[in-house]
Amino acid sequence: MMNRNGMVSKIQTRIRTDPFKNNYDIAGKELGRGKFAVVRKCVEKTTGNEHAAKFLRKQRKGEDCRMDIINEIAILEMAKSNPYVVALHEVYETTSEIILVLEYAAGGEIFNQCVADNDEAFTENDVIRLVRQILLGVAFLHRSNVVHLDLKPQNLLLTSVRPLGDIRIVDFGLSRRVDNVREVREILGTPEYVAPEILNYEPIRIATDMWSIGVLAYVMLTGESPFLGDSKQETFLNISQVNVDYSQDVFEGVSDLAVDFIKSLLIKNPRKRATAEDCLKHPWLCPHPTILEALSETEARQSQSEPESPDSAEELVLQASYTICTSQSDLQAFRKTFIFEESLPEIQQELVC
Ligand code: ADP
Ligand code: MG
Repeated sequence: MMNRNGMVSKIQTRIRTDPFKNNYDIAGKELGRGKFAVVRKCVEKTTGNEHAAKFLRKQRKGEDCRMDIINEIAILEMAKSNPYVVALHEVYETTSEIILVLEYAAGGEIFNQCVADNDEAFTENDVIRLVRQILLGVAFLHRSNVVHLDLKPQNLLLTSVRPLGDIRIVDFGLSRRVDNVREVREILGTPEYVAPEILNYEPIRIATDMWSIGVLAYVMLTGESPFLGDSKQETFLNISQVNVDYSQDVFEGVSDLAVDFIKSLLIKNPRKRATAEDCLKHPWLCPHPTILEALSETEARQSQSEPESPDSAEELVLQASYTICTSQSDLQAFRKTFIFEESLPEIQQELVC
C-alpha cells in the first residue's frame, strides 16, 4: 500500500512493545546521529550478537512522523534479500520512539576513507569493487521502483575496514516508491549530492539516485566534492550548471574509464543519465582482467616508491600538505552541509534572491 507521495504504509514486521532494554544492552558510544535519530551499538542478550539500534523520534517539529518511519521499515523489508542493503532484525516502539534493530556495519561510513590521506584512502580497485556493490543494491531498489534519494558517503557503510569489507546501504528515511502512474514531486535530499531536477522541483525519478552515484564515485576517487562551493548558493549554481572539474589535476592517477563512468552520470537531463543496469555494464566496472592487473601494478608501484632522496621527500611533503589543506577545508564545509541540512525551499529562495 502506498500513499500519494510515494510512502509505503504497510509493513509485515511485528512491532514489539516490550522494553528494548530487556532484550538488549547498549554497548559503547554512539555510532551516529542525525536530526531525528540516534544510532547506538547494542548487544542482544540472548545471542550475544552485535547490532545497531536506530532510535527514531516519532514527533518532529510538532508533527507526528510515525508514517515516515513505517515507510523506512517497509523499504528495508522489501530489500531484505539484497546483501548490500542493511538487514533489519527487529522493531520496537515506545510512546515517543520507534527503534530499528539493524545489522551492525562495523567498518562505519565510507566518508572516512573518502577524505583520508593516501595511506588510508581507497585505491581505484577498491572504488571499483565498492561502487559495483552500491550499484547492485541500488539496481535492486530501482527494479522495485524504490528511489533512495539520500545516497552519500554517510549513508554507505562498510562491514569492516581492515580488511576492507563490503557495502551496506543505510538510511531509507527519504526513500520513496515511484511508479509510472504517480508523480512524486518533493523537495528532498542533501546539498552537494542533490540532482538538478530536485532543485528545479521537477518530478523525482529513479535517475535522481544515479546523479548522486556520479557525485559519490567522484568523491571516492578524488577526495573532492565536485559541486561544493563556498556558499550554498554557489553549490546549487554549480549543480544546475553541471560545473564539474575533470582536469588531470583532480584525476591524477585515475583511469580514463573512471572519468568516463562519472561523465555518464553527471548529466543534467535525467533521461540521458546512465541507469544502474547500464552502469553495471560499463567497462570501468566489468573490466578486462588485464586492466585490473595493470591497475594493481600501478598501485603496487606507487606504494613501493617510498621517498628516499631528500628532494623527492620534500616534494611529497609539499604535495601532502597541499592535499591536507584543501581537503580539510572541504571536509569542514562537507560536514557542515551534511549536519545542518536545511530545507531546499529556503535554498531556492536564496537562489532567487
Ligand atoms: P539519519 O537518518 O539520522 O541520517 P542514519 O540511518 O543515516 O540516520 O544513521 C546515522 C549514522 O549512524 C550513519 O551515518 C552511520 O554513521 C551510523 N549508522 C547507521 N546505521 C548503522 C549500522 N547499521 N551500523 C553501523 N553504523 C550505523
Ligand atoms: Mg543518514
